[in-house]
Amino acid sequence: MQPLMKAAVLNKPKDIEVKQIPIPKPKRNEALVKVHCIGVCGSDVHYYEHGRIGRYVVEKPIILGHEVSGTVIEIGEDVKNLQIGDRVAIEPGIPCGECPHCRSGRYNLCDAVEFMATPPFDGAWAEYVTVNSDFLFKLPDDVSFEEGALIEPLSVGFHAMRRGNVGPGDNLLITGLGPIGLLTIEAAKMFGVTEIYGSDVVGFRRDLALEMGVKAVLDPTKGDLLEQFREVSGNKIDVLIETSGNAQAVSETIRLVKRGGKIVYVGLPTVDQVPMDMTAMIDAEIDMLGVFRYVHTYADAIQSLAHPLVDLTKVITDQYSLNEIKTAVEVALNEKEKSIKVMIYPNAKDIK
Ligand SMILES: [Zn+2]
Ligand SMILES: [Zn+2]
Repeated sequence: MQPLMKAAVLNKPKDIEVKQIPIPKPKRNEALVKVHCIGVCGSDVHYYEHGRIGRYVVEKPIILGHEVSGTVIEIGEDVKNLQIGDRVAIEPGIPCGECPHCRSGRYNLCDAVEFMATPPFDGAWAEYVTVNSDFLFKLPDDVSFEEGALIEPLSVGFHAMRRGNVGPGDNLLITGLGPIGLLTIEAAKMFGVTEIYGSDVVGFRRDLALEMGVKAVLDPTKGDLLEQFREVSGNKIDVLIETSGNAQAVSETIRLVKRGGKIVYVGLPTVDQVPMDMTAMIDAEIDMLGVFRYVHTYADAIQSLAHPLVDLTKVITDQYSLNEIKTAVEVALNEKEKSIKVMIYPNAKDIK
């Protein structure tokens, strides 16, 4: 009989249960990874609550989770880059490798990508997962499994830095200080930025951003953001990274950045259409850039963790075992005032 493992299966919205299912067998180019920890992402929570995100619909039971690290315990015969026992972070999207986007190096735009925990593809809220070894990245001994799992959400901010061509001389405002916004602070440090500012309506998130090293925080409920920015920094905003997806925040971005500035849009707006002052945008030659996931970030982000000021783990506010998955997801869904990143552990004894 095939050996079994625990996996958290979402049967339909709000109906998630831990089941015993067969441990997958690695194909020739794959490794079997024993999962150490997996983050709960906003997208997981959204599938849990609504069963769909845009054109992606949960039509049959699915395993969620795509922010993963673990240990390689078995490798397929063609795997050359890894050995059994390697500690790894998992890049969760496997692109086709053949289409024009993949060939041009922008594989995050591949239409045929198989992305973990995006229907119909299973994710990794499970004890074991098989992954194409090209998308497994070895973790140095001094990098924790938790940091390894957080490379995934960090990568979004890391890619935003590249899209905005952000560098040491830039004054940066990050709007929205959820998990992605907060980890974008760490990505900005990796790119040498010192003038990092953040804004959010939630006090707890602003406090955490200050702890993570932003120069100052702004509160959109306390008056004009541009005036607040000038007051605390004395500068103009060179690059704005929008992570909140709040329609009003998105709409306001053009007015906030300096002439010739850049806006990088990361958060998906909660409505289909957002009014934008395009005349002002053209007049000021503002660059507007979209970010979809990330591309070629893992190896560089893992190396950048050695930066002395970078600490990803401050965003972990809650830890649960896989058996407690329902509670874990409900916390991520309902406790946005005090919870940022919920981390899941297949083995309860790994919780520190
Ligand atoms: Zn994610
Ligand atoms: Zn492709």
